[in-house]
Amino acid sequence: MYAAVLRAPGPIERQPLDYSEVPEPAPGPGEVSISVLACGVCRSNLHMVEGDWMPNTPASLPIIPGHEVIGRVKALGPGVSNLAIGDRVGVQPIWSTCGQCEHCIGGHEHRCRRRQITGETRDGGYAEVIVAHAAFACKIPDSLSDTEAAPLFCPGITAYGAVKKAMLRPGQSVAVLGIGGVGHLALQMAALTGANANAVSRSPEARTLAEQLGARGAYAPAGNDHGYVLRDGSQDAAIVFAPSDQAVAEALRVIKPGGRVVLGVAQSVGAMDIGDEKTVLGTVLGTRQDMADVLGLAVDGKLHAVHQDFPLSQANQALQQLKAGKLRGRAVLVPGA
Ligand SMILES: [Zn+2]
Ligand SMILES: [Zn+2]
Repeated sequence: MYAAVLRAPGPIERQPLDYSEVPEPAPGPGEVSISVLACGVCRSNLHMVEGDWMPNTPASLPIIPGHEVIGRVKALGPGVSNLAIGDRVGVQPIWSTCGQCEHCIGGHEHRCRRRQITGETRDGGYAEVIVAHAAFACKIPDSLSDTEAAPLFCPGITAYGAVKKAMLRPGQSVAVLGIGGVGHLALQMAALTGANANAVSRSPEARTLAEQLGARGAYAPAGNDHGYVLRDGSQDAAIVFAPSDQAVAEALRVIKPGGRVVLGVAQSVGAMDIGDEKTVLGTVLGTRQDMADVLGLAVDGKLHAVHQDFPLSQANQALQQLKAGKLRGRAVLVPGA
């Protein structure tokens, strides 16, 4: 099979992913192999490919990145009874969990310390075939296309977790900072709570997209010369997906006393004034039930993943465009395109 293989991390401008022929993986007990139809391109893939998270991530080299995977079940390993050959399924970043720790049995399996991560500890979906844990492969409703479904498997579940933690009520106001692959979905989900969802982005194109997706208003961050800026203390909550420390300061500025900031990307929070009793909390991924909820929203037509498709052989180029901030919504790789 062909795959975009990371053999040695390096700057994406030097094309560290090697599109080449590698042995096709076979499923072990409890696993399935899947013919990949689409795989989303995540900023975390960019971090790993460029070596930002060495030496812990990836767990080993070479590795095939990619954790927003849609495909058809090709072969069943021993003991698999929940899937059949030909089923269309999705694989999310959580490849598997231990099923036994306090997080797994407490309804927060995504926090499991013994979790396997697709494309980081196990080979991922920048390939023609991937092996998945059958219990963590999720069937995809027929009404969703491959390329629209793929971004739901990391941005979708991530946005869902962030909006849940913002604890919005109808009529409240929320700012979503960063309108990229994740932010554009968080904006739509925040609006579904009945809250007034406002977008904040430096990019005029992203602000236009936000308005098309139903944002109440689209704003520029403070200090930006072009575009309106949200008033201090005007929002009940803020959700941050913009990869910049200034975005956290902006979020803390726009929320009311007692408000909450939900961080969906790793950032430095800086000095916080305790006098306003503001809360900052992190969010990452979600459970298999969260994933099912996200797919339900998309099937009902309440959620639209904006995507830009690339052939799998162009994985380096897709990541370059992500780094340059040139993508509209999510980049999705398509094998054989
Ligand atoms: Zn991701
Ligand atoms: Zn566990």
